[in-house]
Amino acid sequence: MPEADLQHSESGADEGRPPVQCDACRSAFESDSRRAVSFLLLDHLTIPVVSCEDHLEQFASVCGLTTEDTAETLDHRPAGGVRCPGCRLAPHNSAQPVIPVRKGAVLVVACPEHQSKVFQRFRTGLQTRHHLSSNVGATTNSLR
Ligand SMILES: [Zn+2]
Ligand SMILES: [Zn+2]
Repeated sequence: MPEADLQHSESGADEGRPPVQCDACRSAFESDSRRAVSFLLLDHLTIPVVSCEDHLEQFASVCGLTTEDTAETLDHRPAGGVRCPGCRLAPHNSAQPVIPVRKGAVLVVACPEHQSKVFQRFRTGLQTRHHLSSNVGATTNSLR
């Protein structure tokens, strides 16, 4: 069930959202053009996202850790388009949530359901990566 996450947050909300340090990300967000939208292909999901090239790539590679396939990004609408009508109609504006990626961020231009899906994937991917790197020197107590 989609949460009512749509409270108007023009003012005061910035406190919980650190400023995006990456200029390229910021200018991508500010561009109102639909052309700034890229598409993250992850399993059967097609998620419209906005970010700079670098951070989009990092984002996709983290998300890719949660799938046996690789996550791909396209800078044009994929053949067949975005299947989810909610995502197709999602407003492209800065009221959409952003997912921080290092010094940049990814703006997810999707319906609430797919926003939370891709956010979960990203979180899981980060944990996976953390495990991978922290297991190198660590004992095997996390292996079952
Ligand atoms: Zn960036
Ligand atoms: Zn959707």
